Amino acid sequence: MLSNYGSTVASVYSRRLGSQMSNPGLPRLETRLRSNITGDVFFDAFNRGRYATDASFYQIMPAGVVVPRSTGEALRALAICRDEGRKVTPRGGGTSQCGQTVNDGIVIDLSKHLNRVVSLDVENRSCVVEPGIVLDDLNRQLKQHGLWFPVDVSTASRATIGGMAGNNSCGGRSLRYGTMRDNTLSMDAALADGTMLHFGEVPRDLAQVNSSDGGLELFRDMLALGEREAAEIAEKFPKVQRRVGGYNLDALVPRNAPNNMAHLLVGSEGTLAFTTQVELKLWPVIRNKVLGVCHFGSFYEAMDAAQHLVKLRPIAVELVDRTMLSLGREIAMFQPIIGTAVRGDPDAVLIVEFAEEDQAENLSRLKRLGELMADLGFGWDQRKRKWGGVVEIIEPSLQTAIAEFRAAGLNVMMSMKQEGKPVSFVEDCAVPLPHLADYTERLNGIFAKHGTSGTMYAHASEGCLHVRPVLNLKLEKDVKAMRAIAEETFAMVREYKGSHSGEHGDGIVRSEFHEAMFGPRIIADFAEVKQRFDPEGVLNPGKIVDPPAMDDRSLFRYSPDYRVGELKTALDWSAYPGAGGGFQGAVEMCNNNGACRKLEGGVMCPSYRVTRNEKDVTRGRANTLRLAISGQLGPDALASDDMMDTLKLCVSCKACRHECPTGVDMAKMKIEVLAARAKKHGLSLRDRLVGYLPRYAALASRLAPLANWRNNSSLLRRLFEKVTGISAQRALPEWRRDVFRSDAEAIGPAQGREVVLFADTFNRAYERENLDAALRVLVEGGYRVHIPKPADGGRAICCGRTFLSAGLVDHARTELDRLVMTYAPFALRGVPIVGLEPSCLLTLRDELLSLRSDDVAKSISAHALLLEEFLVREAEAGRLQLPLGPVADKALVHGHCHQKSFGAFKPVEQVLRLVPDLDVETIESSCCGMAGAFGYGADTYQASIDMAELSLLPAVRRADAATLIVADGTSCRHQIKDGAKRGALHVARVLAMSLDRARLNPTPSPVAKEPIHG
Ligand SMILES: Cc1cc2nc3c(=O)[nH]c(=O)nc-3n(C[C@H](O)[C@H](O)[C@H](O)COP(=O)(O)OP(=O)(O)OC[C@H]3O[C@@H](n4cnc5c(N)ncnc54)[C@H](O)[C@@H]3O)c2cc1C
Ligand code: SF4
Ligand code: SF4
Repeated sequence: MLSNYGSTVASVYSRRLGSQMSNPGLPRLETRLRSNITGDVFFDAFNRGRYATDASFYQIMPAGVVVPRSTGEALRALAICRDEGRKVTPRGGGTSQCGQTVNDGIVIDLSKHLNRVVSLDVENRSCVVEPGIVLDDLNRQLKQHGLWFPVDVSTASRATIGGMAGNNSCGGRSLRYGTMRDNTLSMDAALADGTMLHFGEVPRDLAQVNSSDGGLELFRDMLALGEREAAEIAEKFPKVQRRVGGYNLDALVPRNAPNNMAHLLVGSEGTLAFTTQVELKLWPVIRNKVLGVCHFGSFYEAMDAAQHLVKLRPIAVELVDRTMLSLGREIAMFQPIIGTAVRGDPDAVLIVEFAEEDQAENLSRLKRLGELMADLGFGWDQRKRKWGGVVEIIEPSLQTAIAEFRAAGLNVMMSMKQEGKPVSFVEDCAVPLPHLADYTERLNGIFAKHGTSGTMYAHASEGCLHVRPVLNLKLEKDVKAMRAIAEETFAMVREYKGSHSGEHGDGIVRSEFHEAMFGPRIIADFAEVKQRFDPEGVLNPGKIVDPPAMDDRSLFRYSPDYRVGELKTALDWSAYPGAGGGFQGAVEMCNNNGACRKLEGGVMCPSYRVTRNEKDVTRGRANTLRLAISGQLGPDALASDDMMDTLKLCVSCKACRHECPTGVDMAKMKIEVLAARAKKHGLSLRDRLVGYLPRYAALASRLAPLANWRNNSSLLRRLFEKVTGISAQRALPEWRRDVFRSDAEAIGPAQGREVVLFADTFNRAYERENLDAALRVLVEGGYRVHIPKPADGGRAICCGRTFLSAGLVDHARTELDRLVMTYAPFALRGVPIVGLEPSCLLTLRDELLSLRSDDVAKSISAHALLLEEFLVREAEAGRLQLPLGPVADKALVHGHCHQKSFGAFKPVEQVLRLVPDLDVETIESSCCGMAGAFGYGADTYQASIDMAELSLLPAVRRADAATLIVADGTSCRHQIKDGAKRGALHVARVLAMSLDRARLNPTPSPVAKEPIHG
């Protein structure tokens, strides 16, 4: 477990935190905010720390955080802060890459409550939304009307419209749809002095503009500035579509149409006004599309071709380079798609997307793409130079697979475990297409000169390629290299009349370079705009105007005094660098990209989905851990109550381990914290009851009627809750005397293929029917099933899971040692170890290796399979013979989080499809919310139910009585029973029922009625 954490370095940081905590005005500000705001008001170090970073490499502790419940509250908070002389930074998803959302004033988080669609005009294709609405959420609501908002940023699952407007964000298809600015019709926003204004289209004479006198005066001044500076703007603003840096003064110059004042706010990064509503232009959803994958033998040729390919008016041209392709080839799930879409060994491919309403037109353009490539001299028969051609992708499922591959390729790149990481600072420069080839070639030269490299990908059609050179910003020399690379790259971009800020905005990274790009006069204009809107510098100062130096290390997440003291950890973290045997490196993997804030799809992160608190998301937890181990939250922060509160709603579903782009494994980190906590504070009674369950299970079974007494008396339930903290609203699993036991060492045909059945504590003690069913399935399948007696002759074998969940790592190790001893003879001769309970069996694939790295443990881990994985493997090898009969028309299946995290859920669907006539439907669910002991806690009961109500319980309730509900997890079945009053079955039991049916109706029905497929 962790110890000595942070205390040695706490003093170093007290200066950074203390300077704000000792600020005399803060208590009054806090009191005023608390008495005027019903939403959260945070002034404690843990919560402030969670808002000190965004997806950039900066960190600035805010003085406080407000999470307003309404627009009125947000504006009240703004007024109080201004009154108290405090800065205000509005914040959405906090996914900015340039430090836009970090500041030392008050952060106002709009994402939790201000996220409604206010109005929708389907006919005129527009809507008005609150600023905190997430793009994907908005598009889900628009879909039923055949509409979408097409600024499809990669962070669509968590980026808010307010933040997208703040940064003038751009999607991959901006070639057709333009940037955020092009799709913003109007905005309502408050100036720093509280004046509410409507920013929309205005005639230059402002005739009939309905605004306050102050508003009219402001608009008049801005339009006058636009007129005065028109020539300078025309000369100095880069003429590329992807110019998102600086203020949009070009929106103010005289033109033949009305000026839109909202376009000045777009891209202003919260520095001019506080947006309360945004009116958006909507588009019809894309119905048809085709892709042409253009192959090139050299990267330079690909870049050079982009300018020609865009003439066919695709909606996107996206680059995937050799590095990304080879990364993809290493990932099993992408091998088939690369095999289909990629021919030969290209240095780069450009994925050209046509998406006109008429599919015939798309196909015709695809044909022209092939002709164009030929006209450009490319051919499959060419040698190295001009080798290439087009692979056509018409099938929608292949198109989706290609999109997934692209996204995952980036994730693999981002998941580097070493100290050096790909750093975002020159990652979205945009240059005119004719210069793209020279630009990229010279850029690689700059990287090489400074001893690094970077992979390029993304928006070739806009001349805006993403590239992150690998640097270690903890090192002064790498910070110097970053500065030099930035200066040289931006100078080159200016040479090509491009923009150093082509997608991600300015923040702290880019603002200081504006003068070189726009010239001193425009910089003075920016200052004038800021002064006119916000003379007291209340709104997010230090961005765009008067910025600090981008390489001011005191503003870095890893500032020069960042230190992690000695840590003693319980688990193996050796895959990562840093203190605690690598625990530091594992914690620091979080780069704040915010993918864990997604609200739908996948599993991550169930607690955030129900609370929408930064505290309850993987990112918030990882940031808190980082601050704690580096002493920034005071001594002993890791074992503190605040840390427990941070991890309290983490259900250890392991979804982040699988779905976080950088593989942050919070469930594993939580074990370390629980261990530290247990060591320092001991265990609660509830933790004891949960942790030691395998030790007292045998006794409880013998005393079953007594042990179950609590369930049958509401008085006892309430008493039990008081004493143990286990919710009176939950029935505990019923103990029984007839637990699963096997006296025989092996069952099944003597000549059958051998398999070990792992009888876990839960199924053994509570639901022996599942083990009986699995045993029957295996034996009838012709297998010789071993149920080995514990090698030490003691209590039943256990995986140690319950001990891990209580932080009792040593006890877990003891259990696993016993398991290893018992199963070693089988694993070492290649016998599969098959289990039913996902969280138990998968412990052998996961935590076992964090506790033991010897060859025997590795062998057991390698041979551990869930029943369905085993059956699929056998069926695929043509070895499975099971006479199955029909059992029901339909099965509705809920996957256990750990099955999903380990890619072990697909076999569940595959096995169920072996049952004749069974229509298998998977519930799109996150965690069931029960998660071991989590759902039983009186303090976590409601969160548990809320998680289940997100999609699982409603789906089960909708199912008709004849539908089988299938769930492999003991906890999942319990939650379904409690919440939807339906019994759910383990797959083993469905198969056993199916065997029974086949016996009743002996029409031969051999196993695999058809080959196993997904
Ligand atoms: C992995 C990754 C991929 C990305 N891909 C893209 C991409 O494809 N395209 C792209 O354009 N960007 C991209 N970004 C950058 C970022 O995700 C976008 O800029 C996103 O739109 C920001 O949204 P947000 O809600 O996180 O805003 P935040 O980061 O919270 O805020 C952005 C700015 O808006 C301001 N702001 C927020 N709300 C308000 C308000 N109500 N009033 C006034 N100002 C406000 C903030 O102060 C801040 O300056 C990416 C980032 C990451 C980490
Ligand atoms: S935990 Fe993972 S998904 Fe969440 S912000 Fe950090 S890196 Fe991104
Ligand atoms: S383990 Fe699950 S609940 Fe915990 S942080 Fe990861 S995704 Fe969230």
